[in-house]
Amino acid sequence: MEIAIIAHDGKKAEMVQFLNQNSEILKQKKITLISTGTTGEKVSKAGLEVKALLSGPLGGDAQIAARVAEGQCDMVLFFRDPLDRHPHEPDILMLMRLCDVHNVPLATNPATAELLIKAI
Ligand code: PGA
Repeated sequence: MEIAIIAHDGKKAEMVQFLNQNSEILKQKKITLISTGTTGEKVSKAGLEVKALLSGPLGGDAQIAARVAEGQCDMVLFFRDPLDRHPHEPDILMLMRLCDVHNVPLATNPATAELLIKAI
């Protein structure tokens, strides 16, 4: 099962807290973690194996969106910062749209991420 993790800068601390609280679940063999670039560095530092793609503004969200469209990514945990502007807003909207098109579970805040991770 492939799970994508993305955190905007304003939410990276909360994302790390989430990883620490759920590391036992996330370390299971059946789970492969992928992420955008800078998020991936934080995931690695938290002691989890992760395949980091490009940084979000350079196309990382678009890469994850493509994996969703191709049926390779099974869940997206997106720690969005709704109070900040993002140069790659079109990519973010594409990712969320493709999750809906392909019926892939998408969390856009920590509370939903918590519920989804408990459900797997
Ligand atoms: P980052 O990208 O992990 O490279 O910071 C996240 C994003 O802004 O979508």
